[in-house]
Amino acid sequence: MANSNKRQALKLRKGHAVSSIIMFVIVVTLVSALLVFEEEIFLSYTVNMKANFEIRNTVLLSNMLANDHDDTTKLLVADDYEYLLCDEDLNVIESHGENTCLLEETAVTIADDDEFIPTGTKILPDQKGNFIIPILMGRSDMKLTDVLNNLSQQELDEIFIEEQESFVIPFWVSVPMEDGNYFLLRSYLISRSQDVTMFVFLFLAQAGLILVFAVVMLINIISNISNRRKLTKMLFMDNVSNGHNWMWFLIKGEELLKKRRNCRNKYAVINLVFVKYRNFVLCHSLNEGEAVLRDVYGIIRGSVSKKDMVAHSTSSNFPMLVRYTDEKELRMNIQTMISKLEKISSDHKFSFQAGVALIDPGSRAERSLIDLDHIYNNACAARASLEATDESGIAFFDRQLLEDHKWIDRVEERQQAALENEEFKVYYQPKYDPRTDELTGAEALVRWQSDEMGFVAPYKFIPIFETSGFIKELDHYMIAHVAADQKRWLDMGFNCVPVSVNVSRAHFVEDDLADQIRKIVMDAGCPADLIEIELTESAFFDDKKAMVDTIRKLQKYGFTVSMDNFGSGYSSLNSLKDLPLNVLKLDAEFFRGSNDNGRADKVVSEAIKLARALNMRTVAEGVEEKKQVDFLAAEGCDMIQGYYYAKPMPGDEYEKRMTGAAGSTETQAEEEDTPEDGSAEK
Ligand code: C2E
Ligand code: CA
Repeated sequence: MANSNKRQALKLRKGHAVSSIIMFVIVVTLVSALLVFEEEIFLSYTVNMKANFEIRNTVLLSNMLANDHDDTTKLLVADDYEYLLCDEDLNVIESHGENTCLLEETAVTIADDDEFIPTGTKILPDQKGNFIIPILMGRSDMKLTDVLNNLSQQELDEIFIEEQESFVIPFWVSVPMEDGNYFLLRSYLISRSQDVTMFVFLFLAQAGLILVFAVVMLINIISNISNRRKLTKMLFMDNVSNGHNWMWFLIKGEELLKKRRNCRNKYAVINLVFVKYRNFVLCHSLNEGEAVLRDVYGIIRGSVSKKDMVAHSTSSNFPMLVRYTDEKELRMNIQTMISKLEKISSDHKFSFQAGVALIDPGSRAERSLIDLDHIYNNACAARASLEATDESGIAFFDRQLLEDHKWIDRVEERQQAALENEEFKVYYQPKYDPRTDELTGAEALVRWQSDEMGFVAPYKFIPIFETSGFIKELDHYMIAHVAADQKRWLDMGFNCVPVSVNVSRAHFVEDDLADQIRKIVMDAGCPADLIEIELTESAFFDDKKAMVDTIRKLQKYGFTVSMDNFGSGYSSLNSLKDLPLNVLKLDAEFFRGSNDNGRADKVVSEAIKLARALNMRTVAEGVEEKKQVDFLAAEGCDMIQGYYYAKPMPGDEYEKRMTGAAGSTETQAEEEDTPEDGSAEK
């Protein structure tokens, strides 16, 4: 999976919830703060307005007192004003009513920005409401609401006048007079309970609005989060197995591996594959196939611990992440699980292959860099190494596999340039008639003389070319080079013998193969009867009719066709029955190992008789010993290709073994044979 997809999924899962919650908290806090601020301003404006009225009233009375002391005094007493007239040192000269002014308390001077209010006008606390002074002039950090909240019941009772349903908070206003005395009047801040109710109502209404807004917002966020959760769940759900999918495996798996407490644990990443799932779907239906996949998922899930992870990814792949302690035990557990899976249907024999890549315990830092995608790929590579067979099996990813893959990559990277630079060399391995020791043929075998990699033996690159299909280019190259060599030798006067060239089974998908070969050989100017085409036995399992057509065509064009490695497969006889071949090459395996009671000899002898009965010549491959040569000669084997006579050799060496041209002598292999890669010959 592309990393960007993974990032998107992670964002979807986490990002939105966190940012929504942060946004919600910020908005609600801001709106609430705004409300409190607004209420505070409103309250302080109202209180100050009322207080201002009282102050102005006191200034007015003090002016009246200064102008007409006696009448004003009468008026004050008549209206039951509680006042004090004090000298400069605040000694009371005259008073009416109870003196509740807290003269010693700090007074608050009123700002002198109002011409009507004389400079030095102050507010003083009253014994019953000494808390109000600082608030009145906004000189306190305390808010009125805090003050009211902090009042004791007794204090509240004192300021609340029940009959008038009002709060009456007393305070004193002190106004300096021109004669140096001070006029102090007990004033009241009266707030009717209706006002308070109105204020509380307003406050509650706004708070309610905020609450509704917050709730709506919260519901929206919660539904958003839950929608995203559902979406993420869908994103992580596999529709086929009803389990988890690859994205879930990758994200959750990495999270699991990176957790601090899991760093010391060993894990196995497994790629479990239902082999030939597509065939099953082909023969049945997609629905039936998916039903089996669901069963498979269920069995796998049930075979591992709850903490282990199982998912279903493309087609018939099941990625797994399981904790293990012992490798042997892990292998056994996987084997047991595969055995259970194989029995999933009584009507079919299913097989399952598992590729395993192990994760060793590591430090937190190491684990934080872990790339599950990459490790799973290793598990898949291990699984792919089992692909040659359809049987169930388990393969562990190891260093060798890694090296193998690196090698494949190196070969594939260089193959085209190697072909263009003629790094592939044709070696010839002569074939001799065992009765006369005469050279009667040869097989062309490729060698890669690489500038960068040195001498590379065919077994190291032919299978890679066969898998990638590049073998077709190589086989064409070999036919062209052999045909060119033959033509040159012919022109030089050599008695040329047929040279066989290997043609891979990959070619047989092309129905014009015979024509392609004929064109290459004709272009080189080489007679067709000097070229023999070797078909490996495994190729005969493919489309038999196409095979027969191609063989017939090749023969019609004058080529000889041989069956390579006869006896190495298990349906050789069947192939012989159907295919009109000219030569049978007995596999080298006939001449390896024991020959207890002459059993191998008997098989070889019968094979030669069979070939003769079918009008085919025989070539024995891989013959190394004299007694084998004598035996084959006696049995009537036509040719021997083996180290006994000669190893594969470069063209110029092979040339020396041919007769015909001036100066050439055919030499017995034992006398002149040189090793193909320069090492000592037997
Ligand atoms: P093959 O076609 O069965 O070739 C015979 C192999 O047996 C050759 O190995 C040859 O060197 C080896 N051999 C012959 N006599 C003896 C003997 O007495 N003792 C032992 N131990 N080995 C003997 P080589 O050249 O390494 O080739 C291996 C395989 O690579 C060939 O098996 C063939 O399948 C493939 N190959 C080689 N060249 C080509 C090519 O040009 N095209 C294709 N398609 N395949 C090729
Ligand atoms: Ca061969």
